[in-house]
Amino acid sequence: MLTDTKIMLQNAREHGWAVAAFNVENAEMVQAVLAAAEKSCAPVILQTTPSTLKYMPPHYFASMVRSAAEKIPVPVAMHLDHGNSLELVQECLAAGYTSVMFDGSALPFSQNILLTAQAAAIAHQAGAVCEGELGCIGGKEDSLEGKDGAYTDPEEAQVFVQKTRVDSLAVAIGTAHGIYQKEPVLDLGRIPFLQQAAQVPLVLHGASGLSDSVLRSAVARGMAKVNFATELRQAFTAGVKEVLTAQPEVFDPKKYLAAGRKKVCLTAEKKMRVCGASGQR
Ligand SMILES: [Zn+2]
Repeated sequence: MLTDTKIMLQNAREHGWAVAAFNVENAEMVQAVLAAAEKSCAPVILQTTPSTLKYMPPHYFASMVRSAAEKIPVPVAMHLDHGNSLELVQECLAAGYTSVMFDGSALPFSQNILLTAQAAAIAHQAGAVCEGELGCIGGKEDSLEGKDGAYTDPEEAQVFVQKTRVDSLAVAIGTAHGIYQKEPVLDLGRIPFLQQAAQVPLVLHGASGLSDSVLRSAVARGMAKVNFATELRQAFTAGVKEVLTAQPEVFDPKKYLAAGRKKVCLTAEKKMRVCGASGQR
């Protein structure tokens, strides 16, 4: 069933597990993530970035996910990841997204509050929920270039949540988007303080490439949603390459796309287990 993220994130926070959120970029990745959720009996969030939505607009994703979610017995949410304009927030909500993120983390604090508060108000009016971001998550997500450093400050987090009315908060604790060039310096000890200050579920971005034990530890300390993007892309591409390398004569897209889909499904199942989401339906 298609739902917003509110209840699943609350459940996760109260019981010490995290909802795994997966960036999907085509129909096969949507199928793979939903199949993994169904097999794992895990609530799940599918999300798309602005650059994915340039490739395929929100109504395609919303229609696919809505119709597929009706047929499976786990809660499914459709989320805009790193929304970069109020127009895109509105477009996704109109298409049927149940959750949106507005990422104003590169803006000055007061500007971030101002715009995120507007995004949250728009989302709430549509019966959906809103994630904000505070602090600098490093690395590169699609066309979005992050900066290094600037871990989220708990006092700022408290003010930010109160003023914006966001339903969840992405925080910077030293993770980065994309592929890690060197071992990240994480400040996991900061998570409980951020949780205490923010009083809304916390979101971990840049989780691809973190070890299972680090992920488990971040979840145990209070992360309620963990985003995975890069590892799914790698899995999909590896599956496609395997087929095209072994059988270069193949020209039926279904043959190699199915191989990518299978690998994404396995990766998503594994991440759900690490987050403790399996069996939490
Ligand atoms: Zn992110």
